[in-house]
Amino acid sequence: MADTFVSVAIDGPVGAGKSSIARNAAKKLGYIYVDTGALYRAIGLYCHRNGIDMKDADAVIAALPSARPEIRLIDGVQHIYLNAEDVSEEIRLPEISMAASAVSAIPAVRTALLELQRDMARANNVIMDGRDIGTVVLPDATVKIFLTAKAEIRAKRRFDELCAKGVQTTFEEVLSDLNTRDYNDSHRETAPLKQAEDAVLADTSELDFEQSCQLICDIIRERV
Ligand code: C5P
Repeated sequence: MADTFVSVAIDGPVGAGKSSIARNAAKKLGYIYVDTGALYRAIGLYCHRNGIDMKDADAVIAALPSARPEIRLIDGVQHIYLNAEDVSEEIRLPEISMAASAVSAIPAVRTALLELQRDMARANNVIMDGRDIGTVVLPDATVKIFLTAKAEIRAKRRFDELCAKGVQTTFEEVLSDLNTRDYNDSHRETAPLKQAEDAVLADTSELDFEQSCQLICDIIRERV
């Protein structure tokens, strides 16, 4: 049963540090970290690989039965599989971020991924990050946090991250992609990105990574 486990929902825009902060907090608190964006990325990757036009909702929906994403925990760490292939690295490419944003606006895609996400929270203490965790996926989450920071600061962090991985890009390109994705995510009809009414707002614009992790752990510990 969902209510026998602790669930922490962390939502927020692109590059707010959700995944790195949530991963760190999960480790400190002994919870499983679940990155739900990876599921949308896996569907985006499938469409990208198969030349499916992501703006064509019917084509994406027709492809859904053949694209089977799966979350597997290996030593407590999430790996994302697409049709039994580990695609955890490949889904991080910038073109797959855009693909994920496009397919995530299709209601049937969101429905197809809903129970996979809920299953994780039914079986584990989780910190789950995404866009609609506190509003749709886990409306009864024990703790809800809306994590954000100013767009330029988020873009700088994302740019540094991509550079460290050797991805060729520019700050302007990263900022523009981030603004486009945030716009798409918060203006779609189904499960748009927004702060749940009962979520705690955490703005990390002025905080470094350690301070952000501390803030999130404090918010969780105060409420669990
Ligand atoms: O979090 P991440 O940047 O990996 O997510 C990729 C895309 O997947 C987001 O831009 C968003 O469009 C979509 N997404 C979503 N709902 C979630 C998680 C991600 O719509 N819960």
